[in-house]
Amino acid sequence: MKVPSSAVCASKSTAHAVSERVIPIISQALGNLSVPVLSSTDPAMADPNLKDGLNRPLRDLRISVTDRCNFRCSYCMPKEIFNSDYVYLPQSALLSFEEITRTAQSFIALGVEKIRLTGGEPLLRKNLEVLIHQLSGLQTLSGHALDITLTTNGSLLARKAQSLKDAGLKRVTVSLDGLDDAVFKSMNDVDFPVSDVLDGIAAAQAAGLGPIKVNMVVKKGTNEQEVLPMARYFRGKGIALRFIEYMDVGATNGWRMNEVMPSADVLQLLQTELALAPLAPSQTGETAERWGYLDAHGHHDASLGEVGFISSVTKAFCSDCNRARLTTEGQLYLCLFASQGYDLKPLIRSNSEPEALTHAIAAIWSQRTERYSEVRQQVLVESDQATDPGHALKRKVEMSYIGG
Ligand code: SAM
Ligand code: SF4
Ligand code: SF4
Repeated sequence: MKVPSSAVCASKSTAHAVSERVIPIISQALGNLSVPVLSSTDPAMADPNLKDGLNRPLRDLRISVTDRCNFRCSYCMPKEIFNSDYVYLPQSALLSFEEITRTAQSFIALGVEKIRLTGGEPLLRKNLEVLIHQLSGLQTLSGHALDITLTTNGSLLARKAQSLKDAGLKRVTVSLDGLDDAVFKSMNDVDFPVSDVLDGIAAAQAAGLGPIKVNMVVKKGTNEQEVLPMARYFRGKGIALRFIEYMDVGATNGWRMNEVMPSADVLQLLQTELALAPLAPSQTGETAERWGYLDAHGHHDASLGEVGFISSVTKAFCSDCNRARLTTEGQLYLCLFASQGYDLKPLIRSNSEPEALTHAIAAIWSQRTERYSEVRQQVLVESDQATDPGHALKRKVEMSYIGG
């Protein structure tokens, strides 16, 4: 078995050092880290000021509700791997809605203010509205309503937008990689048409699931020609379009640096036609750098909407990363690029006091020092990744498992 050639990441200068594409055999079972044994000096149970080992608070929890998807995006769940032989988690392994809600309460006790449901395709999870309804009853430590959102491929959104809103969902992020059917179908790899996703976005808007964000992964040589049409289409529609650099998540997508379109190049392309100016971040820990449209006089015009750039490959943003990830089966991951998680399921399913779970999460978070994107940037600047891939080539869990 060859070592996967994926799992590397670099600045533009290292784009040349990319080896052949190899599709590895994978298993999600990369092993668990042990949940720290608690002592009397461990962090307090309900502590909104909890900080990790790099002084970052815990504010954002991403919960994967399924490892299944009806798309086979080549950059996430390539067909060669996620085929009829692929073994997904059995129903019994999934956290129930009650278990997810209880776990969410523990995270909220430690400062979480926002929950994003993801997957796989979250709308494939049966009765997801029930979970949303349960979560929407929770309040943050400061007494505010929890910000509940969801990332979806949009395929089932037209049908579900209203029931999701009625259940308490606040807003959605929809993934769409182009407006041209041939391009989009080649990326979702299941022949899914653009029009159905656009219908889903329209239904979400009509249901009041906004402000809506649209995520576009830009893969060089595949869909960069869709950047301008997408910007033109969403400009002035009250929808923020965010361009995501193709990332080296997981180990199955055959990632190569020369397929990454750096955000700087996307911006340059946009500016050949559209007048844009940088906007201040709206909150700490924001993943996207925001740019607003200018009017004919060169003034920022908020009514035209905005675009965002998520530049995990070329511009790491680990220093204020306040996100934790809970997998479908109850493992806590501290970084999108982690190879191992902490198995919380025994605690979640035990009869112990809820505080025990909160305390365990606090102990794990307080030891967190993950900053994968920053480290790989540093490693790759200081060394030739072809001879010293080091950290960058470690096995990583798949994004469809951990949740995007
Ligand atoms: N299925 C849902 C969807 O596609 O919106 C939610 C899960 S998906 C893993 C979450 C986000 O991750 C999507 O916006 C997707 O485009 C993005 N994503 C997946 N693989 C990626 C990769 N290799 N690089 C960058 N973004 C990726
Ligand atoms: Fe499915 Fe989303 Fe991954 Fe595409 S990006 S395969 S829609 S989970
Ligand atoms: Fe956060 Fe890890 Fe991404 Fe850095 S690489 S921003 S620590 S998820």
